Amino acid sequence: MLAVLRLSHRVFRDRRISTHLALTARAFGADEFYYTGDHDSHLEESVEKMCLEWGGKIKVSHIKSSWSFIKQWKDTGGTIVHLTMYGIDLTDKLAELKEKEKMLVVAGGVKVPGTIYELTDYNIAIGNQPHSEVAALAVFLDQISESKARKRKFKNAKNVIIPSETGKRMEEIE
Ligand code: SAM
Repeated sequence: MLAVLRLSHRVFRDRRISTHLALTARAFGADEFYYTGDHDSHLEESVEKMCLEWGGKIKVSHIKSSWSFIKQWKDTGGTIVHLTMYGIDLTDKLAELKEKEKMLVVAGGVKVPGTIYELTDYNIAIGNQPHSEVAALAVFLDQISESKARKRKFKNAKNVIIPSETGKRMEEIE
């Protein structure tokens, strides 16, 4: 079980980046996507639409409190990984993290509360420079799955891309 928690979503400022984060979670192997902050049915519908077209399924849910949610994950045996430029580089913990069966990956938003740094089992950096939650999540999930997740086939897709060196090729499934 692999889930992603996005902190402090703001409807007007973050809609695009939070949607990209959810799509990245889906494309790179997460089963569930949770977010705190503003409830945003538009975000949920956009991801659902993508799944209808491109297949697979990712559950997207709004939650009220990151603190109690993370506590609940820990109490049920989940490992909590917080992505932050202040953490230990992924390379140093990769082997250990690959062994985890149930993992919640937390990606920050505008300002990450100090409690998150203490509550999580790992504070993991994708390099110690500031960049983006989407980039951090993509690199993390790709390395954890050894690039297998993004190459898998998605069930019930209406559109399937035929990889080609030139142009765009796509098959529409009836
Ligand atoms: N000061 C933030 C930090 O702690 O990483 C950077 C803010 S950035 C706009 C928003 C989110 O992107 C962060 O909360 C973190 O989840 C992710 N992020 C940015 N750079 C990262 C890095 N080098 N390693 C891991 N995560 C990063």
